[in-house]
Amino acid sequence: MIFVTRTFLPKAQDYLSILSKSWKSKCLTNNGPHISTLQSTLEKRFLLNHCIVSNGTVSLQLILKALDCKGEVITTPFSYVATTNAILWEGGLPVFADIGLGTCNANPKAVEQAIGPNTKGILLTHVYGIPCDVDALEKIAEKHGIWLVFDAAHAFDVKYKGKSLFSYGTAASASYHATKIFHTVEGGGIYSKDETLMKSVRQLMNFGHTSPESFDVPGINAKNSEFHAAMGLSILPHMEHIIARRKAISERYDAQLPNGLSRPLIPDETEYNYAYYPVFFPDEKSLLDTKAALEKEGIGTRRYFYPSLNTLPYLTSTQPCPVAEDIASRVLCLPLYPDLSDEEQTFILHHLHRIFGA
Ligand SMILES: *Cc1c(COP(=O)(O)O)cnc(C)c1O
Repeated sequence: MIFVTRTFLPKAQDYLSILSKSWKSKCLTNNGPHISTLQSTLEKRFLLNHCIVSNGTVSLQLILKALDCKGEVITTPFSYVATTNAILWEGGLPVFADIGLGTCNANPKAVEQAIGPNTKGILLTHVYGIPCDVDALEKIAEKHGIWLVFDAAHAFDVKYKGKSLFSYGTAASASYHATKIFHTVEGGGIYSKDETLMKSVRQLMNFGHTSPESFDVPGINAKNSEFHAAMGLSILPHMEHIIARRKAISERYDAQLPNGLSRPLIPDETEYNYAYYPVFFPDEKSLLDTKAALEKEGIGTRRYFYPSLNTLPYLTSTQPCPVAEDIASRVLCLPLYPDLSDEEQTFILHHLHRIFGA
């Protein structure tokens, strides 16, 4: 079976040699040396304040809690369900603004139209690691005096106009889950230039401690462990290889894709990370037929992202998003991971042509 993605693992020995320090110190969590090294290494990599938490969903929740989302939050229907659920879980009301066809990201005009007297802020996803129109969105947020947060779960090592994509907006939430481009098994990160926000998030993630015996806010436990950080530290040296390999596989798909399948647009001035390989089918039926036929050959694909989040059954109110609903019905991600071999990709392309190209 060829899976749609496979986790990158360092050599076991490299991971264990980092961990051996924890055996000596017996410090396994509570902001130990591995967490703090990984945190500061990534701060330097992206030139931002950074805080590591237990996963990328909790990082969204902590940002939303710290900024106050009890009101309407304008969001994208085209993302993973975690984006919408984080808003609901923190007591906000998601208001869906439709996406644009080209990049699959928020359409700034639709975002601005959705702003009303109860709008607290905006939460959008750089889907597949493709930058949102951050320049237009930052202007809109500033004009209306509201916060702008990015779910940047897919955006590790993406640069836009020479800066990390994490640096746009009020804050960005990263996911270091095992299926993401850089991972700590489970894990998440909050990136921001806003010191007050970072201070508040650091307090909220650690039970609300201000000192060992004083508490100002009802915080929770969103810490991550030394074992997770050690995984991240042993993967970081491989990032260049990981992205180069993903790029080569993506470019080969681009060159050999059957006619009739199309691809999202990557904006100019983007240094992309090749996080996913989504293709648009002409319609849902051709997608479903192709997906099933590929599966028979042992080729796994995923409907990233389906369903369109404005159609989730538990929403108490929603908005129509025709572009997102259309895209969600006919987008499929093909296998893409650094260890995918040339022979496996030949096999995938052969069957894709046989099934869809016929
Ligand atoms: C993976 C993902 C998340 C959640 O991250 P976890 O670390 O798995 O909690 C949030 N948003 C998007 C868009 C994702 O793809």
